[in-house]
Amino acid sequence: MKITDVKTYNLRYPLLEPFANSRGWTKTRTASVVEISTDAGITGWGEGISTPSASAIQTHLIGQSPFETERISEAMRGNIGALSGVDIALWDIIGKALDMPIYQLLGGAFRLKIPAYASGLFKKDKPDITQALMDEAKRYVDAGFPAVKMKIGFGKAYDVKNVAAVRHAIGDGTLFAVDANCGYDVGTAIDVGQKILGYDLFWYEEPITSDDVAGYREIRNALNVRIAGGEMLQGRWAFRDLIQKRGLDIVQPDISIAGGFTECRKIAAMASANYVRVLPHMWGSSIRLAATLHWQATLPDAPQALNPIPSLLEFDMTENRLRTALAQEPINAVDGYVDVPQAPGLGIEVNREVLQQYA
Ligand SMILES: [Mg+2]
Repeated sequence: MKITDVKTYNLRYPLLEPFANSRGWTKTRTASVVEISTDAGITGWGEGISTPSASAIQTHLIGQSPFETERISEAMRGNIGALSGVDIALWDIIGKALDMPIYQLLGGAFRLKIPAYASGLFKKDKPDITQALMDEAKRYVDAGFPAVKMKIGFGKAYDVKNVAAVRHAIGDGTLFAVDANCGYDVGTAIDVGQKILGYDLFWYEEPITSDDVAGYREIRNALNVRIAGGEMLQGRWAFRDLIQKRGLDIVQPDISIAGGFTECRKIAAMASANYVRVLPHMWGSSIRLAATLHWQATLPDAPQALNPIPSLLEFDMTENRLRTALAQEPINAVDGYVDVPQAPGLGIEVNREVLQQYA
């Protein structure tokens, strides 16, 4: 089988209601989608964070076998944002060619229903943001989610007040993570961390910029809470020091940023060898969500235990039709669990009308 064509689509979905993390307001959601065709009539879909260049398409893709993921991965190492989308599309093709879902190609699933955490609780332009956050968090618990994640990093006063309010709203039985999106320096991250630790946090995500390994170690030593991060890192070398120097308790590679299945398996192996937990980041379209489900299904519990720490899927609760409408069959959370797609490849059918509508 040979690759005959590569198409790219830059999708934009304008939000009805903007929201903010610690770094800025989001008004539009985007996705860089890749469609790869073959002479066998099989088409694969992927999502990255940039699109492959015309020369990469000509040199590394057209005429090549879609099975040669390692070789193509090495050849496209110069643009990992684009490689991520290409690699996902190649695995989609391989799965369709062999009539197997990707999780089987990766060695089999440890779970076919993945417990999810409701990822939301952003800052919004509301007269009473605290009440709005409490109402939103309560909805997630009522919908059956075992865990929620809230945005912090807006300053100590905002963070302490709203973390307290959300913990009150969700009660003691729900896992609760917070995410500062790299909005603090080390001193502020520790100061705020000490003030919110009493609310039984499951993890404290990206307190500081991703590449400050020494800073992550200082925070991890200062605070009695799991530290998470790494969602923006690209390629295994970017993760190396953070993992090997134990800057993190939880590493969060994003399959559409870090390099696709081929690279993420290597990152997961490095994390495993260093006893660092992998909980993938997910913030994208239906394609990225499906890819994340297949990969996460294949990550073993570590350590194996009668009651292991759950492998929680990041389930984006914000409004985004690129996630809710791009696949013919939407991927939903039911009672806090998301099923891994069972059809060959990624197991989704891309809706071309929706694709064209937002392209
Ligand atoms: Mg995050």
